Amino acid sequence: MPAAYSYRSLSFWHDSVPDTLTPGDPLPGDVQADVAIVGAGFTGLWTAYYLAKRDPGLRIVVCEREIAGFGASGRNGGWCSALFPASLAKLARLAGSGRDGAIAMQRAMHETVDEVGRVAAAEGIDCHFAKGGTVMLARSAAQLERARAEVAEERQFGFGEESLRLLSAAEASDLAAATNVVGGTFTPHCAAIHPARLVRGLAAAVRGAGVGVYEQTPVLSLAPGRVVTQHGTVRADFVVRATEGYTPGLPGFERAVAPVYSLMIATEPLPPAVFEQIGLAGRPTFGDLRNLIIYGQRTADDRLAFGGRGAPYHLGSAVRPAYDRVPAVFAALRQTLAGLFPVLGSVAVSHSWGGPLGVPRDWCASVGLDRSTGVGWAGGYVGDGVSTTNLAGRTLADLITGTDSPLTTLPWVGHRSPAWEPEPLRWLGVNAGLRAMRLADWEEDRTGRPSLAGTFMGRFLGG
Ligand SMILES: Cc1cc2nc3c(=O)[nH]c(=O)nc-3n(C[C@H](O)[C@H](O)[C@H](O)COP(=O)(O)OP(=O)(O)OC[C@H]3O[C@@H](n4cnc5c(N)ncnc54)[C@H](O)[C@@H]3O)c2cc1C
Repeated sequence: MPAAYSYRSLSFWHDSVPDTLTPGDPLPGDVQADVAIVGAGFTGLWTAYYLAKRDPGLRIVVCEREIAGFGASGRNGGWCSALFPASLAKLARLAGSGRDGAIAMQRAMHETVDEVGRVAAAEGIDCHFAKGGTVMLARSAAQLERARAEVAEERQFGFGEESLRLLSAAEASDLAAATNVVGGTFTPHCAAIHPARLVRGLAAAVRGAGVGVYEQTPVLSLAPGRVVTQHGTVRADFVVRATEGYTPGLPGFERAVAPVYSLMIATEPLPPAVFEQIGLAGRPTFGDLRNLIIYGQRTADDRLAFGGRGAPYHLGSAVRPAYDRVPAVFAALRQTLAGLFPVLGSVAVSHSWGGPLGVPRDWCASVGLDRSTGVGWAGGYVGDGVSTTNLAGRTLADLITGTDSPLTTLPWVGHRSPAWEPEPLRWLGVNAGLRAMRLADWEEDRTGRPSLAGTFMGRFLGG
């Protein structure tokens, strides 16, 4: 993608960011640094940001194949949430961290939402941060059961109504007046953001702090002490891999995560009369509790940006621009949105796009630093990376600078997800999983009871 104009067509967010998206300079040749970071998405940039804050004398280099914010960080649903892609019970089992570890992790995620807002304000990044919480609608008996189970798990770990509460049908409909609402959940721990404004603003802030952010600099390989790019080699004591869904393209990391696509649409700006009917006052992010995830936000300019999974996984973990666009998935999203809010039935869709997420084999994100090699990593956030990347960046900054902090003992630190199966097993497994979730939703719509396949997938993926 060499031309600046084509970056604008990546998503609604890229199209509406007040920035020319002109690529910055590539790496000028061989460079010596203290820390070399591969990838200028949220993970790489938050890591650079906090490292530069901790020690302004550090020489930090970020190498990005395209432009900062090219990947999922510029294209996502803008849920800056406290969601983490593993249940509290699963976190408690990680490395024997127990109940206290799971609770500490959840608290850290709650704080992270505010930390993102704090830094955006401090750096003058107008990312349209609106902390309106999240309403998850239950639109069938099976979904209501799932809502109750989620609230029950929070209570078991000592989190009360201020963390997650069950809603009656009337309360849920007040927040988002969708069809067939029988209840739901609400958490205040989420802000709707404009992700491209945040990631591009963050890139400018780290550049301002003296970090070298080199764009159009494809990394060919990374190893302890060095990052080899098309334009030269960066030698550094610490090397950080921050490539998420693109990771399998790096030699040696082919099976680290599976790139699974999430796709989105955005409507034209909607008149106030529409919001009088559908709610979403205060811009809460919203979805329902079906198995195959859907997610939406009311943007600052009164569009609905709405997305979901369901696009196929590609053999060999291939990632290509063409995979961002699947007309059948866009049509399904359009139909699902109109099913939620019939008033949107004839509303024009102005943008449709997508991008790859990184799914680790055990669906559990991780961050870490191998002290013996100086190689660090963070990723595997599945669809929950907007805020988790900030926690990852702070944690990597502490690990690299040898700072003792409560962050470096959280359960996800140092966790190693197993490698995915070789192909074609991986292709069969991931696509069968996506199909099972779609089937589970179909079954639940018809029977009103939780689908066995859905319960199994839920345990497999989150539990
Ligand atoms: C459509 C969509 C919707 C989503 N919605 C949400 C949401 O609402 N909330 C949420 O929390 N999460 C969401 N996510 C997930 C979230 O966006 C990601 O978890 C997060 O942005 C990951 O950030 P990252 O920096 O790790 O990866 P990325 O943003 O993907 O950045 C990786 C960067 O590395 C670069 N790169 C890769 N390989 C190389 C190489 N060899 N050389 C140089 N550079 C390289 C890429 O170009 C890219 O810029 C969504 C994701 C998608 C795709």
